[in-house]
Amino acid sequence: MTLIIPFDPWRGRLCTCPPKYSFSPYAGCGHRCVYCYITSYVPRAFQPRVKEFTVLQLENELKKLDRSKPVSIANSSDPYTPGEAQSLLMREVLPVFIRNGFKLLIVTKSDLVARDIDILSKGRVCVSLTVTTLNGRVAKRLEPFAPPPVSRLRALEALSRAGIPTMIRLDPLIPGVNDDSNSIRAVLKAASAAGVRQVTTSTYKAKSDNFKRVLTAFPELEEELKNIYSHGEHIGRSTYMAKGLRRELILKVREVAEELSMGFAACREGFPELHTAETCDGSHML
Ligand code: SF4
Repeated sequence: MTLIIPFDPWRGRLCTCPPKYSFSPYAGCGHRCVYCYITSYVPRAFQPRVKEFTVLQLENELKKLDRSKPVSIANSSDPYTPGEAQSLLMREVLPVFIRNGFKLLIVTKSDLVARDIDILSKGRVCVSLTVTTLNGRVAKRLEPFAPPPVSRLRALEALSRAGIPTMIRLDPLIPGVNDDSNSIRAVLKAASAAGVRQVTTSTYKAKSDNFKRVLTAFPELEEELKNIYSHGEHIGRSTYMAKGLRRELILKVREVAEELSMGFAACREGFPELHTAETCDGSHML
């Protein structure tokens, strides 16, 4: 089994990511976010398993790859899934990438990433933490087994203090859940105060399985969400909100990002002209 693969082999037409590799030490994720997309293609997606591999295997794969392209860890299955606190797998794999000269994009929803500052600060690394809301009760309904937003912000602050470039993903924006201007402003202000340099956002893309989970978690929004998504666009294997509504939500985030002098990008939305950051994934900060 190949461990490190080119990012997004199916390459969605709206993706603006620069070329990079992707590596996931786990299959499946224990954060169990209701909107999670991996449940449509990862078997037993909410039961994380450590992938079977050796450090030697990783080293051998890295020797054949292009060091100018960063490695994203990870795009499906959070590398700091709850079990990582015991398995310490990331503490084993991060040094392998760093000593082989690879730049890293760490993507997570867990403050556990701050545990590895000692290792991360030795490499060229950008850490992206998802913060969808500052409201702990809403976060618990959305991302039931992920650490609370306040812990993620503390981690961002610690990473920034250590000189590690950070960004947040305000992602996904779900109407009625976290799309109001006050909520967006609160997230971005807290992130900016924690030293974060960029926000990348996106709107919720519905698939039949995650849509059912979202409606179960937010039954009071059933009518509104069904109405919005029944008038949406089918892109790839997902249903997006209608373009006008997406643009409106994306612009709300952009406006606050500009006020706070943060870089801005949107993920797979089709509005690259709105980006102010050089890259959507933080590659330019490496
Ligand atoms: S952290 Fe990411 S991979 Fe894990 S459940 Fe949440 S959305 Fe899915």
